[in-house]
Amino acid sequence: MRCQITLKPYMTGETVERMDVTYQLQGYTPKAGEEVCRAQINTVSIPGCMPENMQAEDAMGALEMTVSESKPYPYHYVHYTASRDVRGDVTIRYSVTPRPLGPEDRCGPYFDLKAEQGGANTAGLSVLVSVEGCEGEISLKWDLSGMPEGCCGVCSLGEGDVRYQGPLGELRSSYFAFGRVQSLTEGDFGFYWLAEPSFDVKAIADYARKLFGMLSKFFRDDRTNYRIFMRKDPYNHSGGTALTRSYMFGWNDAERVTVEDKQNLLAHEMVHNWPHLNDHPYGTSSWYSEGTAEYYCVMFPCRMGLVSKEATLKEIQRRTDDYYTNPTRHMENIAAAQICWQDRRAQRLPYGRGFFFLANTDVKIREATGGKMGIDDVVLAIQDKDRAGVTLGNQVFLDTVKELSGLDVTADWELMRTGGHIVPLAGSFDGMYAVKPKEMPEADTGVTVTSYEWTMAEEN
Ligand SMILES: [Zn+2]
Repeated sequence: MRCQITLKPYMTGETVERMDVTYQLQGYTPKAGEEVCRAQINTVSIPGCMPENMQAEDAMGALEMTVSESKPYPYHYVHYTASRDVRGDVTIRYSVTPRPLGPEDRCGPYFDLKAEQGGANTAGLSVLVSVEGCEGEISLKWDLSGMPEGCCGVCSLGEGDVRYQGPLGELRSSYFAFGRVQSLTEGDFGFYWLAEPSFDVKAIADYARKLFGMLSKFFRDDRTNYRIFMRKDPYNHSGGTALTRSYMFGWNDAERVTVEDKQNLLAHEMVHNWPHLNDHPYGTSSWYSEGTAEYYCVMFPCRMGLVSKEATLKEIQRRTDDYYTNPTRHMENIAAAQICWQDRRAQRLPYGRGFFFLANTDVKIREATGGKMGIDDVVLAIQDKDRAGVTLGNQVFLDTVKELSGLDVTADWELMRTGGHIVPLAGSFDGMYAVKPKEMPEADTGVTVTSYEWTMAEEN
């Protein structure tokens, strides 16, 4: 199949008004009653674009489509179904408009099409309809004739027009920015933004590039393409979201932005580029993706000497108190995923339990192998298996721990999965700290619960 997508944004003054999207599809012939395409109008509580003026035509002329909706959690789709057999090449046209945002809106994840001074940015999935089985020669073209002079378009896959062999999904899981895009780039590593930052953006971009080089080496990845997108938030709390070989992070006028303030977020989102397990059903393996992102965003900068042991201790302590005082912490993984976008406290669970489970597993593997192996070896071994094209679920984690150390950690894993109480082990986090129980009030309820206090190991 061949798919050419043309994006034509329109901007008057400094404001993006809309974007026209055109798909030209070759070798795609859905039958009467089959889906032609679908729009993802909500992703984990974040609104995507509802296509406006949706039209399709083929060799026979205009193609009438019926419209229906479905809501498989945590998504909301609009389906466009062919009223007759499709003949020859198909063209699909529609427009999208930026999401209106106010201070009361949710800040993340960053999937929505948002306009800001000088342009707009979005995740592909909110503006690009999906086409069943669309894989082959995919190309993206920017038509900037509706934009003022000096504008450009960029996505995670490259600046300007891009072309690749693969699934359309790769483009849909990319970030996009267009308008007066500013950038700092080196080769195919890029850092992009629109609204004028009130801070030292070069310091942030330099740190991110350095971190990318180090993390790529650790994860044994020699691909150099990676792109980071920055968005200005209209609210007072910003976050970050990772997609394919890229992430977007936000800033606002209320929060301070320095390398120190942002280093943890920059590292977390970047680590997401590597460790993953199959996440079907939804929430099955988020303990692993969020747990590894948390574990390495804390440990890696410390190991590299970018962050001090004292600052790292603070990061661990913050995560400890967050997790052990979270009133939803005894929920099972999938049950938590089912409510996590309504109750954001449950959304934090995979971060905390993944973090402490991985840290404890590291201690156990080190003990079992006389210090020869640790959790890093497990994560890297899983990645090697994944690159071989295997679809891997949670079992591969348990199997890999066993292969490398002889340990069966199934019971520990079950405890983590079902929301049992995980007791952090001495020797975790590279043995830098001592840990002891402490009492704390649970968030929201004030009930006394057990958390843990970390101190520098040499003080004890
Ligand atoms: Zn994450």
